[in-house]
Amino acid sequence: MRKSWVIGNWKMNGSLVENERLVRDLLNQASFSNCVALCVPFPYLSQVANLVNGSGLILAAQNVNSHSSGAYTGEVSVSMLKEMGVEMVLVGHSERRQMFGESDLSVAEKAGALVESGLTPIVCLGETLDERESGLAKQVVLSQLAAVSAHLGAAGLAKCILAYEPVWAIGTGRVATAPQVQEVHAWLRRALAEIDEVLAQKISILYGGSVKPVNAMELFGCVDVDGGLIGGAALNSADFVAICQTPCKQ
Ligand code: PEP
Repeated sequence: MRKSWVIGNWKMNGSLVENERLVRDLLNQASFSNCVALCVPFPYLSQVANLVNGSGLILAAQNVNSHSSGAYTGEVSVSMLKEMGVEMVLVGHSERRQMFGESDLSVAEKAGALVESGLTPIVCLGETLDERESGLAKQVVLSQLAAVSAHLGAAGLAKCILAYEPVWAIGTGRVATAPQVQEVHAWLRRALAEIDEVLAQKISILYGGSVKPVNAMELFGCVDVDGGLIGGAALNSADFVAICQTPCKQ
C-alpha cells in the first residue's frame, strides 16, 4: 500500500492574511483521505510552520539550492529550510525548468542534497505540448527520471515522491485524460521496476495539471496515481479541501 498525497503548490501567491485564512480553513477539517502538504513561498514558511505545528499538515518549499552555503545571492539552502520546519521540497517544477533554466542535472543535484539531509524531494517530470505531439512524451519523462535515478541510485529514489505534470496541463485548465495520465504513470512505474521491484511498488507518483474537485475523483481513480500536486485549486480552501478528501483507488 503506497502513501497517497495531495500537495498544494501556492506558487508566488499569498499574503499573511490570506495564508492564515487558507490554513485555518484546512485545520478546521477533521481528517483527510490523503496526506496533505503545502508548498509555501519562502517568506511565509515561518508563518505557516507556526500555523500547522502539530496538525499533521506537512510544510513544504518550492525550491532549494543544492550548495550547502556560500556566495549564492538570493538562494536558499537545505539546512535553512530544515531549520524552518520544512519536510518536503519541490524540485524540477516545469515553471523552474522553463523560466529559470533548470536542467535535469541541477534537478538531480537538488534532489540529492535534500535526500542527504533527510528531506523529501517532490521530483516533477513532464513533457511539453510539442514533445507530446511529436510522440516524445515517453522518452522525455523517462530521461528526466533517469537523470535523477543516475544521481540518487535506488536507495535515494526510494526517498522521493514523483509528480507527473504535463507542461501543457499546468495552469491552463487543460487536463490530461485519465487514460493519458495512467499511461505515463505506468511507464514510470515500469522503468522504476527495472531498477528495483520493491521501489516501484512503494514510490508515490502524483499527477499535477489543472486538478479540480470535479476531475480529482477520476484522476485519483487510476491505479498508478497516488494523489495530486495542485496549483490553482490549492488557493481556494473549499476546492483544496474537496481534493484532499478525494480518495485514491489503490
Ligand atoms: C502546479 O503548479 O504544479 C500545478 C499543477 O498547477 P495547476 O494545478 O494550476 O495546473
